[in-house]
Amino acid sequence: MRHLTLSLLVALPLIAATASAHDHAHGHGHDHKHRHAHDKVHDHHAHGHDQENLGAHEHGTGLLDVALEGETLVIMLKSPAANLVGFEHLPATDAERAAIAEARRQLEQPQQLFGLPTSAGCTVLSTDLHSPLFDASAGGADGHADIEASYSFSCSSPAALDRLDLAHLFQAFPHTEQLQVQAIAPAGQQAATLKPGQPALMLRP
Ligand SMILES: [Zn+2]
Repeated sequence: MRHLTLSLLVALPLIAATASAHDHAHGHGHDHKHRHAHDKVHDHHAHGHDQENLGAHEHGTGLLDVALEGETLVIMLKSPAANLVGFEHLPATDAERAAIAEARRQLEQPQQLFGLPTSAGCTVLSTDLHSPLFDASAGGADGHADIEASYSFSCSSPAALDRLDLAHLFQAFPHTEQLQVQAIAPAGQQAATLKPGQPALMLRP
C-alpha cells in the first residue's frame, strides 16, 4: 500500500490525495473529525473534478455531525466558507470583514442556529470556531477555505431533544443549499440530507 501510494503520488496527485487521506483515517481509528481536517489540505486537488469523494468541499453543501449520548450533545459543522460568508479569500474590504463578523455572530448562537428545543434545557459547554478566514496569520487561504464550528452542550432533559430544526441556519446562511448529516442518537445512527424546505432532523422515533 505504501509503495502504491508513493508511485501514485508522483503520477496522479488526485488519487494520491484520496489514498493518503484514507491511510490517515485508519491511523486515527476512523476519527471523523481528523479525517475531515486532513481532507482540507487536499481540497484544492479534488475540487472541480467529477469524482469527488464524500467529504470533499463542494460549494452549497455543508457537513453536519450530531451525537447525543446521555445528557451530552455534540454538534460539528464543516462548511465551505462560501456557504457562510459568500467568499473564501482573506477579507480585503470592510464589507468582507463585516460578513465574517456576522457569520461568527450567528455561529456563536448555536441554540438558535440548530433549533434546539428549549424544553431540552441544553446549555453550551464549549464553542470552537476555526477557519483560515478568521485568522489572517494562518495563511493558505488563496484557494478554497472551510469554516468549522464545533459545539458541546449539556442537556438537562435529553428526552425532550426529539429533533433539531435547522430552518434558522438555512435562513442565516442562504448560500447553504444542503447539509449532509450524520447523527448518532438514542434512535440509532442515521444519515440525512437537510434542505431549506426540509430542515428538521429527527433524533427520536
Ligand atoms: Zn471552495
